[in-house]
Amino acid sequence: MKALIVVDIQNDFCEGGSLAVKDANQIIDVANSMIKHFNQNNFLVVATKDWHPSTHKSFASNSNGAIGDIGTLNGLPQVWWPDHCIENTYGSEFHPDLTEIKTIIYKGTDLEIDSYSGFFDN
Ligand SMILES: [Zn+2]
Repeated sequence: MKALIVVDIQNDFCEGGSLAVKDANQIIDVANSMIKHFNQNNFLVVATKDWHPSTHKSFASNSNGAIGDIGTLNGLPQVWWPDHCIENTYGSEFHPDLTEIKTIIYKGTDLEIDSYSGFFDN
């Protein structure tokens, strides 16, 4: 079986978001083309969502650190991020131009540990 994993194409990581990646919106058309191809061939399409409680400890606002500084969270080095992808907010939604994806993996849900993978927490 072939599978496509679409990672974190959410408003907060796109242009205008609280943790925007430069030129992030350029990925949307590419992702949509790949999603269409995978759907047409009955392959699996999964998307991840960074999905944090507002009290997430990777946020500078909850850590007494400055945005971009590195501290420690649960014994691991941790970048202090601006608040982003807070569950059930506009910033946590997929970009509105992204093709609908039915299977979603939520990551970063445990406020005590960050998650840069759809497979496991840090
Ligand atoms: Zn995050």
